[in-house]
Amino acid sequence: MQLISLNCNHCGAPLEVAESTKFVTCTHCSTRLAIRHGDGSAFTEQLDQIGERQEEMLDRLERIEHHHAVEALDREWERELVDYMVTDKHGRQHLPSTMSVTMSFVVAIFGIFWTVMAGAMFPPMAVFGLLFIGFAIFGGLKTHQKAQAYQEGLRRYQSRKAQLLREANDDRREVEK
Ligand SMILES: [Zn+2]
Repeated sequence: MQLISLNCNHCGAPLEVAESTKFVTCTHCSTRLAIRHGDGSAFTEQLDQIGERQEEMLDRLERIEHHHAVEALDREWERELVDYMVTDKHGRQHLPSTMSVTMSFVVAIFGIFWTVMAGAMFPPMAVFGLLFIGFAIFGGLKTHQKAQAYQEGLRRYQSRKAQLLREANDDRREVEK
């Protein structure tokens, strides 16, 4: 059996242990020690320190997990956003706003104005006005629905994200205790 010479990591007392030993209690100060084998040399480590390090690693892992959860939520939200997009008259996709609903309202007003004017001057042209009104109401309702769905989705996403961040902070505080 080969013996190796070590020093207690706590009090510095010399220790002699078998090479295969993994744990030892210091004969001088009774500290529980783990024997680590570095490259070519061995050294002792207090078991409490190891415990601390494990806690630190768990904390780090938890933080990474939370980070991933937040990232996954963000990605999911980005995919969800596509469903809320409305196409404007230039063919561009954008998020529904009260502005796009207001635009539909303006178009409807224009349609009414057109219908009234054409009805007085040249009735067949009033049909276009009615089409405008129909188009505006249909578009406005659709945009309004999407805007509402978007607002709901946004609230869901924000509360879930806030929840995740709260949890991350709670975990951190627990470790710091
Ligand atoms: Zn010692």
